[in-house]
Amino acid sequence: MDTILQNLTGVKAKMAMAAQRAGRVDQDVKLIAVSKHQPITAIKQALAAGQTRFAESRVQEALPKLASLAYEMLEWHFIGPIQTNKTKVIAENFSWVHSLCSLPHAIRLSTQRPPHLPALQVCIQVKLNSLEQRQGVAPGELPGMMAEISRLPKLWVRGLMMLPTKEQSLQADPKPFRQLSALLQQLQASYPQLDSLSMGMSTDYELAIAEGATMVRIGSALFRGD
Ligand SMILES: *Cc1c(COP(=O)(O)O)cnc(C)c1O
Repeated sequence: MDTILQNLTGVKAKMAMAAQRAGRVDQDVKLIAVSKHQPITAIKQALAAGQTRFAESRVQEALPKLASLAYEMLEWHFIGPIQTNKTKVIAENFSWVHSLCSLPHAIRLSTQRPPHLPALQVCIQVKLNSLEQRQGVAPGELPGMMAEISRLPKLWVRGLMMLPTKEQSLQADPKPFRQLSALLQQLQASYPQLDSLSMGMSTDYELAIAEGATMVRIGSALFRGD
């Protein structure tokens, strides 16, 4: 069995067990294969093993991959920092954006989404700790942001996304996942259509699933060759 198939099989089994332990159905949790830094051959191997959802974090790196795999029925997720001058290519090429952090970017993505494509599905990236360097919307700003972006015709707001700090991942700290899950629940009171929590990576996806993740973004655990 090739390595990627083996990795994929192992990750899916662990995902299913984590879902079961949490009293959830394993179909509720989608595996997004993070193919950044991976060559097209690796993506093709994952595809041959049945994986159809892939994520990239840099537009420049993603475009040649998307073009070369355009004939495949793949679902592409954008998970990296959004640069203003890249919103058009993102709107034209991806099905999902997990890393939406600003209203101006939301407006551009909606306006630039081609009319023949369905609405771009988005998660708002949340920054739980204001001291963090990383980009993200502060919890207190979520209601205001939701009110604005839920009105944009070519965006379909699905939920929230977060990245824990390195320390939180290493300590297997459930707190940030729990916080994001609670924030989604609060928003669901006004926006019951919200259904997605994008959280959990190679080192902590089981923990994230226990706390309610509906999408886990997994790179190294799938593509490593050990
Ligand atoms: C790289 C990346 C991942 C995947 O990380 P792994 O630890 O390799 O699983 C997930 N989310 C984002 C936003 C990333 O940039």
